[in-house]
This record gives sequence, structure tokens and C-alpha cells, in this order.
Amino acid sequence: MNYIAQNIREIWERISQAAARAGRLPHEITLLAISKTFPEEAIAQAAGAGLLKFGENRVQEAERKIPQLRQIQRLEWHLVGHLQTNKARRAAELFDMIHSVDSIRLASKLNQACLETGKVLPVLLQVDLGEEETKFGAALQELPEMVDAFSAFRGLRLDGLMTIPPFLEQPDQVRPYFAKLRGLKETLERERPGCLGQGHLSMGMSHDFEQAIEEGATIVRIGSAIFGQRQ
Ligand SMILES: *Cc1c(COP(=O)(O)O)cnc(C)c1O
Repeated sequence: MNYIAQNIREIWERISQAAARAGRLPHEITLLAISKTFPEEAIAQAAGAGLLKFGENRVQEAERKIPQLRQIQRLEWHLVGHLQTNKARRAAELFDMIHSVDSIRLASKLNQACLETGKVLPVLLQVDLGEEETKFGAALQELPEMVDAFSAFRGLRLDGLMTIPPFLEQPDQVRPYFAKLRGLKETLERERPGCLGQGHLSMGMSHDFEQAIEEGATIVRIGSAIFGQRQ
């Protein structure tokens, strides 16, 4: 077995154990393999080991890689990195889900592109929970207004929330951020039933995905633990 397949096996094992600790079922959790900077061969190996969902963080890189992997059936592509409005059209064509929608302006551009092609694109709203940092993501106080705006976007389906918490050495220090995102989701859904579609929580990366699962993650975004260190 190659190291990628071995890593994936170990990660599934850890996902199952984290899910069990939280009284959840492993199949409630989607393992999204973040393949940014890694070559097509590595992605093909991960697909050979059973993964079908891959995440990229840049439109340009995805534009180059996705066509090279067309021969593999049923692959799904997610955009997890910041998206500029001038690349919205291309992103709407390339991706099956966009995790990083953080403004009404961007959502509106994506919606326009989807209406023209007849696609309904699932998207997540990226939330900025790290008060001190200037990260991408919508501010907490903007969320209700943004969620309401989505009901007018027939080309998009808002399916949940995503966050990138600040990097903290100890995974347990990140836990409050995960809990906060889950709390936000619950509040929004209580006040606006159905507003978050599938109700996804995209949170947790290589060094903290177990904590994220214990706090309710439905999609974990894992790169280096599958593919190795990025250069
Ligand atoms: C790179 C990246 C990941 C994966 O990070 P790892 O630490 O390699 O698992 C997850 N989410 C986003 C948005 C990323 O850019």
C-alpha cells in the first residue's frame, strides 16, 4: 500500500473514534482531501484509495489540475480558498461546492454565473471567528443579513457555514472556535428554519480535525495528514 492510502486509512480510523466519542456515526462526516500544491498523481492515488472529494484553494491551480483528472469517474471539487469576484464565473464552472463565500457581492456574482448555465451551486458561508486577525470571512454581525440575501439567489444553495480558526499549537485551544460556529448555525437555523440547507459545518484540518468532529463538524478539510508536508 502506498503512503497516501495508508494515511487515509489511519485518518478514517481517527474520524471513526472521534465520531464515537461524540455519539456520532462516521458516515455523517465527509473527508475532504485538500490537494493544493500536490500533483495530479497524488490525487489519483487518493482516489484509488477511495476518496472522491478534493479541495483546492486557488482557481488557477484547479483549472490546470481538474482537466488532467477527468478520466477518474465521480470526482468532486471544492474551493476552500479565498475567491475574488473577478474569478467567480470560472469558479462557478469548475467547482461542485464553494466553502469560501464571504460577501453578498461575491454570492451575487456566483449566482449570476449559475443562472446563465442553469447550475445550482452549493455554497458555504465563511465566517471569521478570530477577532484579532484580519482573515477572510464574514463578520458575525453581518451573518443574518447575508443569510437573508441568499434566499434571492436561485442559482445558489446555501448549505452551511465554514471557518478557518486562528492557528493555535494545542488543538484543544481551537475547540471553542468550533463550538462557536456550531452555536451560530443552531441560532441561525432556529431563527430562520431551513436557511442553511444541509446544515454543513466545514471545520477542522490536519492538526485539529478530531476536536472539530467532537464539536459537530460535518466536513473536515485535511491536506498534509494525507499528502505529506507542503513545500
Ligand atoms: C490548506 C487548507 C486546509 C488543509 O490544511 P492541512 O493543515 O494541510 O490539513 C484546510 N482548509 C483550508 C481552507 C486550507 O487552505
